[in-house]
Amino acid sequence: MASKSILVVEDNPANLQLVEFLLKSAGFTVSSACNGIEAIEKAGAGPFDLILMDVEMPEMDGLTAARKIKGDPALAHIPVVALTSYAMKGDKERCLASGCSGYITKPISTREFVKTVSGFLEAGTGGL
Ligand code: MN
Repeated sequence: MASKSILVVEDNPANLQLVEFLLKSAGFTVSSACNGIEAIEKAGAGPFDLILMDVEMPEMDGLTAARKIKGDPALAHIPVVALTSYAMKGDKERCLASGCSGYITKPISTREFVKTVSGFLEAGTGGL
């Protein structure tokens, strides 16, 4: 079976490096983007099985990018999971309202991260 392809969108180099390392170590094919605009460009050049999307980024934030991806018939099938450093009430709702399948809170748990990502891959666009 071909390895699953994941687009990681993250403007913080240290976070990006960690996420890429964990996913590649688990056998995933990983591409990256560092803002929402680049994310949409890269998503169009896929195919990707999953997009992990940081929320706070320059140029275009992650939830705006998620809405645009979900509004594009060619890309809408790709599950988007938000990477959020917010732990505030209402953030889950904001992520879901933007079309995300769910979210992963940063700082990520290096022990749980790949398991959590695999769960989202199995769930597809079907939601949490
Ligand atoms: Mn960020």
